[in-house]
Amino acid sequence: MRVTVLTLFPDAFPGPLGVSLLGRALENDVFTLRIIDLKQFSQEGERVDGSPCGGGCGMLLSARTLEAAIASLPPPDPSFARQCIYFSPRGALFSQKTAHFFSQQHDIVILCGRYEGIDTRILEEYAFTEISIGDYVLMGGEIAAMAFIEASVRLIPGVVSTHDSLIEDSFVASSASLLEYPQYTHPVRWRKRSVPPVLLSGDHEAVRQWRLAQARMITRTRRPDLWSKYVASKLNAT
Ligand code: SAM
Repeated sequence: MRVTVLTLFPDAFPGPLGVSLLGRALENDVFTLRIIDLKQFSQEGERVDGSPCGGGCGMLLSARTLEAAIASLPPPDPSFARQCIYFSPRGALFSQKTAHFFSQQHDIVILCGRYEGIDTRILEEYAFTEISIGDYVLMGGEIAAMAFIEASVRLIPGVVSTHDSLIEDSFVASSASLLEYPQYTHPVRWRKRSVPPVLLSGDHEAVRQWRLAQARMITRTRRPDLWSKYVASKLNAT
């Protein structure tokens, strides 16, 4: 996977993408990260940003700066579709399903907004897909880009060694998944709190049943929206 990030703050990268399993994947070229500094592309005598036409607060990254940065990219390899993503609170909500889709892509270009955003014409001209990482507003797209890259790259086969751990995660690709059950490690007793005895029983079926019951209870109480999808999928399966 080749990931290109267009940002005003190149020093933010690789940041957490350079440590642990993602760092190893980066070192081993499982994915590559090309960081483009938007400040290099301000047009002569112009700023990278401009005030919004029609008035309003803040500044927008200008179409001419972004156009020059995009034009500097090598042309896409004809065998792979280039995916262009702009992070924005008004985009489609990022999910595990979306991460699965992007984990199978080879050429991803990410544009990180700043200030009040960017000139919309760029999104139209280059067919950017708008993605949001949640219903809140960040200062810029860099942290959203990192969350997106980490969630997508960890699904590339081999990045996380135990495949089962991906299958058991909360939010597997299916929209009808349960949240994860509680997990414990040693010591068995800590601050008067004990590991549930069933987890020490060695009875794999009893452990599976307990975990399923816990996952169902947690999903039902914390995320009624996911619970409804789960119940509907079970009804459809019968
Ligand atoms: N004026 C914009 C709005 O109301 O939608 C918010 C701009 S925000 C301060 C600056 C940049 O941060 C955005 O252009 C976007 O790239 C990024 N950003 C902020 N919140 C985000 C979110 N929830 N998901 C993805 N990107 C976000």
